[in-house]
Amino acid sequence: MAWTTLEAPTKAELSACIQCGLCLPHCPTFRLTGMESASPRGRLMVMSAVAKGHGEVNDVFDDLMSFCLQCRACEVVCPSLVPFGRAMEGARIEIAAQLPSPVRRVRQLITGRLIGSVRAMRLATRMARLVQRTVPARFLPRQVRRSIGGLRPLPKRPVSTIGSTFTPVAPTGSGVAAVLAGCVMDPWFGDVHKATIEVLRRAGYRVVLPDGQTCCGALAAHDGNVHGTRRLAKQNIKAFVSADLIVTDAAGCGAHLKEYGNWAGDAGEIFASKVQDVTEVVAAAIEDGRLPRLEVPRGKVAMQDPCHLRHAQRITAQPRTIVSAAGYEPVEIDDVGMCCGAAGLYSVLQPAASAELGHKKAEQVKASGSTVVASANPGCEIQLRGYLGGAYRVAHPVELYWEALQAGDIETVGWSLADEGTR
Ligand code: SF4
Ligand code: SF4
Repeated sequence: MAWTTLEAPTKAELSACIQCGLCLPHCPTFRLTGMESASPRGRLMVMSAVAKGHGEVNDVFDDLMSFCLQCRACEVVCPSLVPFGRAMEGARIEIAAQLPSPVRRVRQLITGRLIGSVRAMRLATRMARLVQRTVPARFLPRQVRRSIGGLRPLPKRPVSTIGSTFTPVAPTGSGVAAVLAGCVMDPWFGDVHKATIEVLRRAGYRVVLPDGQTCCGALAAHDGNVHGTRRLAKQNIKAFVSADLIVTDAAGCGAHLKEYGNWAGDAGEIFASKVQDVTEVVAAAIEDGRLPRLEVPRGKVAMQDPCHLRHAQRITAQPRTIVSAAGYEPVEIDDVGMCCGAAGLYSVLQPAASAELGHKKAEQVKASGSTVVASANPGCEIQLRGYLGGAYRVAHPVELYWEALQAGDIETVGWSLADEGTR
């Protein structure tokens, strides 16, 4: 049986590949294995074979596609502009449709439904906190040991910012920024989320977190969960319908939100056109003088480019603008932006490859001489901390900038922290 769903990789997507091989040296799984079947070109050839009826969606096909990180490093260097990420999402949807299993159904329940529930995420946070505080790492299953070790200390009572409004602090009239809380930014990355809100306020934005919003759906999409992905996208489109600017502080969410058109047609395209990563918004405010460049030198910071910021959204300059404006000296660790191995559920589903990439990324950071790392994606942050250990600090660029503002240099823009505004 060839394809069975409307979302399968299309003829146009697959035939765009001219098999030049330019993507191979940029593909982490090809570099790990040296195998054509673990390369973008190889995977596209396997998809084409299925499309032509020369192969089928079976366990071997599943293994070959599931080994892909969906990092999209191949897209950036492809002269034929093959939309590899979209084709791989289509292949994963076919796998989910043709190879159902109890394990996959549980995963689909988690990625398509539970992850979008604030109550379920609160419960998950409490359970993870209990594990974090009581179970020594050596007793944890190998698949989650580094992930649990890489989490920030989890809160006892997770709070949600959804439904809140924050008034602007600076009188620059930047407009309204509607912020996505996502699934984990409130309960697991509260300091990043707070920094996002506070820096946006100081750039002159009224910050709202619309009621009714939910998880972006990226994990569901990467797992072939078409119904869960569509449902979450529709819910967010409804919640943000009156927004002019939609801001996210998780790179993986931003990459997916900017492609809602693939999941929700015209309404998805309109939504996507309003989405910006917080690094885009903050860097623009620094560039045009709504936020200050701080003069106090704070040392080096190693720059880690999340794949879904660098490859999927093509954002690299903005995080560097932000950490420079905070007084840090950005240090490059990797010319090509190789994946750190986090990749959503990849660290759990492909622990060996994820560990190899995690170790490699940690070595790159250590070679930089900096003990502070800037990363704009929650999954990468967990992976980096898990493989670097406690001697290194991993923080979001906007979090570093917010800390620098709090350190007292903000009079340079003519307003002060005493003017806090009201929530
Ligand atoms: S998405 Fe990443 S891992 Fe997958 S084929 Fe492309 S470069 Fe390789
Ligand atoms: S770079 Fe693009 S066209 Fe060339 S082999 Fe890779 S996917 Fe195909």
